[in-house]
Amino acid sequence: MTHILVTGGAGYIGSHACKALKQAGFTPVVYDNLITGWQDAVKFGPFEQGDLTDRARLDQVFAKYQPVAVMHFAALSQVGEAMSQPGRYWANNVGGSLNLIEASVAAGCLDFVFSSTCATYGEHDNVVLDENTPQRPLNAYGASKRAVEDILTDFEAAYGLRSVIFRYFNVAGADPEAEVGEFHRPETHLVPLMLDAIEGKRDALTVFGTDYDTPDGTCIRDYVHVCDLVDAHVLGLKWLQDGKGSRVFNLGTGTGFSVREVINQSRSVTNREVPYSLGPRRAGDCTKLVSGSTRAELELGWSPSRSTLDVMIKDAWAWHQSGHYES
Ligand code: UDP
Repeated sequence: MTHILVTGGAGYIGSHACKALKQAGFTPVVYDNLITGWQDAVKFGPFEQGDLTDRARLDQVFAKYQPVAVMHFAALSQVGEAMSQPGRYWANNVGGSLNLIEASVAAGCLDFVFSSTCATYGEHDNVVLDENTPQRPLNAYGASKRAVEDILTDFEAAYGLRSVIFRYFNVAGADPEAEVGEFHRPETHLVPLMLDAIEGKRDALTVFGTDYDTPDGTCIRDYVHVCDLVDAHVLGLKWLQDGKGSRVFNLGTGTGFSVREVINQSRSVTNREVPYSLGPRRAGDCTKLVSGSTRAELELGWSPSRSTLDVMIKDAWAWHQSGHYES
């Protein structure tokens, strides 16, 4: 059995990655502290509860499974929280990742796939965000992810650790078979909050800011389907296993949608009204984040097939109505 250690494998993206890994013939070992993840989402391999800051526990898990690679998803990922509690982001996302990377190197596991973010780029006026765009994060979330990218670079120079770094744009959608789906505790993301509001499970959605310099005044994001995103991770793992060098890839579609456009699409997919009100900007939000690169398609052979707004919202809606989802 070829084990892959998947930190955060009980979370939204991690659980979808485990399904993709299993389908590709690997055995995902989930390492998760269950603070934001759900044990019910661990369905595709063994589960080991633990925290990234617990080095002894990490060493134990590396020794038990001898994974050939790490996929590192576990992180705090809320922009608003990162603005008000930056210390948690530095301690968990940077301190915890450093611990994991050190444990991985100590165990001789030298292939590492890291989930980074377009939030590392920050605000760039009318500039295409490709992988060479200068990283100027606006919040501690983006800053903490950029710091881990730097750690990986230093550990490659010192110990030969090879990494594939994926800078995600906005991940949405769910497994079309609804075995796993999107959930966060607390939920802060646009699509699930909107679907909850449609179902009357939450208050109306608040649109964060209508005075941005965009055609309709709301923020623009590049949405990518979680299944396409995790497919790229399997390709990234194979890239490393083929002995190719460390590489950074954006994962986005190159097309941006405003918050109002997402609301309109949700209305048409669900055939229901979206209750929403207009509110002030959320601190730390960039005006526009759209990937300007096709590097993942050209070099990894990534071909996203579900990343249209329509399919992403349909899959998310099906998951919401599957009976597995709890808001
Ligand atoms: N957003 C919003 N209301 C919400 C949550 C999000 O208007 O209740 C907006 C947010 O300002 C951003 C977009 O939706 O422009 C996507 O936000 P999300 O939190 O889903 O992802 P992020 O871009 O922060 O990674």
